[in-house]
Amino acid sequence: SIADIRYIWMDGKLVEPQNATVPFLSTALHYGLSVFEGIRCYDTARGPAVFRLREHIHRLFDSAKVLGFRDIPYSESELCEAVKETVRANQMRYGYIRPLIYHDSPDFSFNLGGGSAHVGIAAWPWGAYLGEEAAEKGVRANVSSFLHHHVNVTMTKAKIGGNYVSSALAKTESIRLGFDEAIMLDPQGYVAECSGENLFLVRGKRILTPHSASILEGITRDTILTLCSDLGYTVVEEPVSRDQLYIADEVFFSGTAAELVAVTEIDFRTIGSGRMGTVTRQIQQSFGAVVRGEHPLSEGWLAYL
Ligand code: PMP
Repeated sequence: SIADIRYIWMDGKLVEPQNATVPFLSTALHYGLSVFEGIRCYDTARGPAVFRLREHIHRLFDSAKVLGFRDIPYSESELCEAVKETVRANQMRYGYIRPLIYHDSPDFSFNLGGGSAHVGIAAWPWGAYLGEEAAEKGVRANVSSFLHHHVNVTMTKAKIGGNYVSSALAKTESIRLGFDEAIMLDPQGYVAECSGENLFLVRGKRILTPHSASILEGITRDTILTLCSDLGYTVVEEPVSRDQLYIADEVFFSGTAAELVAVTEIDFRTIGSGRMGTVTRQIQQSFGAVVRGEHPLSEGWLAYL
């Protein structure tokens, strides 16, 4: 948990958590002007390894560009090194890593042309986001009454702090209703993604996933697309409707925090057999092998410390 954090990397220095502070008048706090990443580190036979580190840091810079930051005081390779340094400083074998770039402006303006970008990186041991049992038992979800952002309102390709207000609305509603996770529809009414995961469905021999145009381009989603073609499945990216979810044979979520979890129930309708399906299990197993360094694709995707 975050209580295990020993050091947080703040603008190039490792500081103790109580010293990793941001001014009260930070525009990041008031207007959500930050961009961030969620990355996992896995314990492998060759020691701790960060999964797809370069891709995550690249997406962080893309998010910064989309939001409108101009001068990030570090390069992508410097932040990759900083992530490794943070994991080492916390003597962590596995867990979650959270780099964040935040805006701070001396005149309290939300014009991103002024002010400056600051970078922090935290890392802590963290297990399954949707619960320890989710990997085997799956989760229950509802279609949220809150819509996913329109692609031209907030920028859905970017992990911008403020974008996550929408996720918080949806997730809180789901938990209060007794579900584990929220599935969000886009303003046209098609299935977009979850509060913090992408979504796939299996219908017969087809695996479907919403097109990337209006969703976050998940790195786990990308990993799964590669693993599926490796396993001989074709994944079709096309619009997905709410009722297609109900009649799917299998539905699963993918994300760095959640990893790959089966969805056994949506809106009180049992999905398929009500248990993790065979296709989901097969993909989950190859995903597990990849992140543990036991798959031919592991080599290119794991950054060993
Ligand atoms: N969608 C949203 C809205 C997310 O926050 C996340 C988590 N980053 C994902 C999808 C999954 O992305 P990834 O696989 O890169 O973690």
